[in-house]
Amino acid sequence: MISAQDHELFRRLVDGAERFVLTTHIQPDGDALGSEYGLASYLAQRGKQVRIVNRDPTPESLCFIGADGPPAEVYDSAVHDSAFLTQDLVVLLDNSVPDRLGRMAPVMGRVAARTLCIDHHPAREMPWAHVILDQASCATAMMVYRLAREAGWIPDRGAAEAIYVGLATDTGFFRFNSSGPEAYEVAAELVRLGADPARVYAAIYERNSLAFTRLMGHALADVRVDGGAVASVVLTREMIEKVEGADVDTSEITTALLAMAGIKLALLFRELDRGQVKVSLRSKDTLDVHRLAGEFGGGGHRNASGIVTAGTLEDVVRRVVQRATALAAAGG
Ligand code: 5GP
Ligand code: MN
Repeated sequence: MISAQDHELFRRLVDGAERFVLTTHIQPDGDALGSEYGLASYLAQRGKQVRIVNRDPTPESLCFIGADGPPAEVYDSAVHDSAFLTQDLVVLLDNSVPDRLGRMAPVMGRVAARTLCIDHHPAREMPWAHVILDQASCATAMMVYRLAREAGWIPDRGAAEAIYVGLATDTGFFRFNSSGPEAYEVAAELVRLGADPARVYAAIYERNSLAFTRLMGHALADVRVDGGAVASVVLTREMIEKVEGADVDTSEITTALLAMAGIKLALLFRELDRGQVKVSLRSKDTLDVHRLAGEFGGGGHRNASGIVTAGTLEDVVRRVVQRATALAAAGG
């Protein structure tokens, strides 16, 4: 729940600032960008100056969000540190942990005293002066919508669609167990305000290349199942490099793993540069992958978490699969 104090804090901070920088986690997703553009639109309507500065570029499939908002600038310390240091308020969206800021972590540390964090991830210790956290919200975009609406915002079509993208992508198009009645109610309001679900779905999910489709095929053909309940697939650098212009969105692969009867936990291992491996974890029902991710320095939510860790692919697969199998056998 967003409390009355949270609404009051949001109003007070927005009223008291003129120049804003909005930012989010590395590799921004639909909720990160939808939250940024929704909030940017509200602030612009209030006559505020707004910049969006992110650690990574917007993936091509999400570039349609906020076409009439400020550009999402890619962080460069030489260009942006002065912007971070001289604004009135930094708003950190959909992320509360410094380790998901990458290269932006140092400058964000320096402006923590003037930062408002709005997030729906489980809380950990954090340095931000102002924090609005709500784990019960299905998306950070839902929190932005609630906060700004309460403060009098009427979103235009583009902003309604940005918020809709956040809700839709974080709830797996309204099918995960995070999609309670509120998600459907707000989605209906957003569609009334002009958000176009078919257009959003097509823009994000109906643009895979042939190479990516083949990558999915190869990955799924080599699926392994441990303990009858843990399914995992591995994407090597070599496999990923075959996909041109790779903003490889692998969420469909983990979805396909969970579609198997009896599978409670899905793992996708992806080889990154510099000896690192990214693990995406997805689970069903009450099986908690957030705790498992935490054991390897990652985080996320109960049913969707991530880890980035150093090690060879074989080694990381062995260690994570072993813990995952034990967790699934113990029932969560
Ligand atoms: P995905 O598998 O889609 O990359 O991530 C699923 C969720 O796990 C994200 O929404 C995010 O909350 C979390 N997550 C992903 N990667 C990391 C990571 O490296 N560290 C932490 N703390 N959380 C992560
Ligand atoms: Mn989110």
